[in-house]
Amino acid sequence: MRVHGGLRRRTGRGHGDDVLIRDVEVEGRGRVDVRVEHGRIAAIGPRLPGAADVDGRGGALLPGLHDHHIHLMALAAEAASVRVGPEEVSGPDALATVLRGGAPGEWVRAVGYHESVAGRLDRRSLDALAPDRPVRVQHRSGAMWFLNSAALRAAGLESADGRLWREDERLRPLLPSVRLDLAGVGRRAARLGVIGFSNADPRPADGLARTLSVLPQRLVVMGVDPPVKLLLDDLALPTPAELAAMVSRLRPRPVAVHCVTRVQLLVTLLALEDAGPLEGDRIEHGSVIPAEALPRLRRLGVVVVTQPHFPVERGRAYATEVHPDDRPHLYRCRSLSAAGVPVAAGTDAPYGTHDPWAVMRAAVAREDGEGIPPGAALRLFQGDPHRPDRPRRTTVGSPADLCLLHVPLRAALDVLSADVVRAAYVAGRPITD
Ligand SMILES: [Zn+2]
Repeated sequence: MRVHGGLRRRTGRGHGDDVLIRDVEVEGRGRVDVRVEHGRIAAIGPRLPGAADVDGRGGALLPGLHDHHIHLMALAAEAASVRVGPEEVSGPDALATVLRGGAPGEWVRAVGYHESVAGRLDRRSLDALAPDRPVRVQHRSGAMWFLNSAALRAAGLESADGRLWREDERLRPLLPSVRLDLAGVGRRAARLGVIGFSNADPRPADGLARTLSVLPQRLVVMGVDPPVKLLLDDLALPTPAELAAMVSRLRPRPVAVHCVTRVQLLVTLLALEDAGPLEGDRIEHGSVIPAEALPRLRRLGVVVVTQPHFPVERGRAYATEVHPDDRPHLYRCRSLSAAGVPVAAGTDAPYGTHDPWAVMRAAVAREDGEGIPPGAALRLFQGDPHRPDRPRRTTVGSPADLCLLHVPLRAALDVLSADVVRAAYVAGRPITD
């Protein structure tokens, strides 16, 4: 049983099945039944009449998780790729072994690379590692591809050093297409209780929304649906006035501005102060937020969609790569909430873990003063897709986009693990197998 189409196609109409879920915990109330009709919660109460479709056995029934920042096509392509990050590969010899693992002459697609594995990659260093097949390696940031000579030749590309930064649009038609496992992405996420995604590619390919509509989850495709994603580069940064003009031209659509450096954030703050903020505006990543920016963010009311797990996942690299001045301001979480700045989270998979529960655990475990309580960590993924800081609720009339746990909420918060997820529902239909 599958629900086709995401949020965009289904807004305003529900086509879910009618379901009666017995004996669940809802918003702190135990032992209640929940009836779903036409994709929405129709009744909540003890001993509702009718035959039970599901025995909840006392587990919590929660708003399902929405991943507010993810790159679904890149995640689906991972199945056809080898991972060459510091967690998987150590040193040039190990990297060479992995890159030579396939049949000679066949393309190798490697992802997750970081310089700590084998230094700075380019055409020449890749030729030394794997001379006899076309090899492309993606940097962990997702912004850079490295190609060896065979790959450049096969793609008909002119690039002296084989380093292609932010060239995905140009590369797409030149590189062999990759087998995408979107069904696998949807299934795996459903098992984690994920009922929705916000796809954050800056320039969505033609037809992307249609391609992604095979996923059983709700879907926001930035650039097709609001908000419009704006990518900033330090090397070609607009002035605040230019960015403000760009934002004004895009109105009445909200914007999601990619801010991974201090200067990108400052330009964005000035631009939004100039253009005026709009409901639904967001800062993506907020990787470096100096303390003096907090009151300005609060006044603007823009939501920071952060990755609280990055300082945990990437701690060792950040300790050497990030400028000491920036280190106290990385991926703020607790201090954003404390300052009244709306906050939510996305995994940024495949550039981070795809498991929101792992993100929650990291958000709790932060040792830099940015750790948050488990309940707050869960809420980072329970916001409205278009207003990620605004919590969805399990109340009569709400869409039945739900996550059923094996255990009551308290027990789930103790472990924050996907093991507690029993089922996920979109518009009342189970999307878990
Ligand atoms: Zn991203």
